[in-house]
Amino acid sequence: SWQGVPLAPPDSIFKLTATYKADTFPNKVNLGVGAYRDDNNKPWVLPVIKKATKILLNDETLDHEYLPITGLPEFTSAAAKLILGSSSPAIQENRAVSVQTISGTGANHLGALFLSRFYSWGDAPKRVYLSKPTWANHQAIFKNVGIEPVDYPYYDPKTIGLDYSGFIGALESAPARSVFLLHACAHNPTGVDPTAEQWAAIAEVFLKKNHYAFFDCAYQGFASGDLDKDAAAVRYFVDKGVALLVCQSFAKNAGLYGERVGALHLVSKTKDAADRVKSQMSVLQRSEISNPPSHGARLVSLILNDGGLFEEWKADIRTMAGRIIDMRKELYRLLTEELKTPGNWDHIVNQIGMFSFTGISEAQSKALTEKAHIYLTTNGRISMAGLNGSNVRYFAENLDKVVRG
Ligand code: PMP
Repeated sequence: SWQGVPLAPPDSIFKLTATYKADTFPNKVNLGVGAYRDDNNKPWVLPVIKKATKILLNDETLDHEYLPITGLPEFTSAAAKLILGSSSPAIQENRAVSVQTISGTGANHLGALFLSRFYSWGDAPKRVYLSKPTWANHQAIFKNVGIEPVDYPYYDPKTIGLDYSGFIGALESAPARSVFLLHACAHNPTGVDPTAEQWAAIAEVFLKKNHYAFFDCAYQGFASGDLDKDAAAVRYFVDKGVALLVCQSFAKNAGLYGERVGALHLVSKTKDAADRVKSQMSVLQRSEISNPPSHGARLVSLILNDGGLFEEWKADIRTMAGRIIDMRKELYRLLTEELKTPGNWDHIVNQIGMFSFTGISEAQSKALTEKAHIYLTTNGRISMAGLNGSNVRYFAENLDKVVRG
């Protein structure tokens, strides 16, 4: 039976992890991992999360009743302030809609589903413009709801940086009212973000062309170590009045990967529009998950709504972002000063967040895996979180070898 069902290929990232786990070489390195690791290559439970977990455990008033369909209200309102800013005009004027989702993936899905149903597409085909490259799941998420993904230029392999003119050109030439997905900070997979000036120019084209900004924010705080700085692009777009929504994930910045804590925030022009949008999101959410899960949302809500815990969280975020930034500096130092590896490696320190596009070829990426047991995706992307004090030299030396060929 099910003869007509073709066998789907395994997810490439999860397959990479499985191959790494099966490898018995003692100095193997996993640079495919999309989760933070401490300097001992271990998952890190944030101290503030441990503390908040204990508080929840001792709270006799908590039960396991359903949350409201749109989520825990004290979580969604605090999450909105975190990304939009506590003095955001959108919040003060009650025109931001916030719905708790199944982490960032669920926020992307609900946002895409909502646009598919309710965006005023007119006679235009349902399309979303995605950066080339982007998080691989974006394509699947939009296709699932009948929106066709198309690419816009983003990464320039020649400079290992932003293809700024290509990006602006795509915004200018797309039909008015197009939907563009933007990574709010720490672009996955390249680690290449526009500068503040470039964001301002991008926002201007959005306004001129009436484009819709679909922001995906999976790394707030994790990129620079500063929650406000990493939200700057989103806040700038809100201030300028660009029509937008934001997908928010607490997987990385709170280390709550498996708890699936996230939110979708849609900023509309009026409170009346926001109320109507929220009512329809509620209907969509009801048919998909009925009610979002409570545990992770309670943890994050506790932290966001308590001044002391919030400060502790910020310190934990600085620990993670700081370690990643240190690894970038150390890798850069080894390549440029010690090994004198041919080529320019400035992008290693200029890129931001967990991921870095090294600029090495598919053949060189494969050689690292086959010869040195260093696991990475074949596009040359490495997760900085997979580097630590014990393996960064081993990685740099082997990178040097494959670059020299
Ligand atoms: N968007 C981007 C760009 C991501 O990198 C990720 C995590 N890999 C997500 C969304 C969503 O992750 P999660 O569902 O775990 O929050």
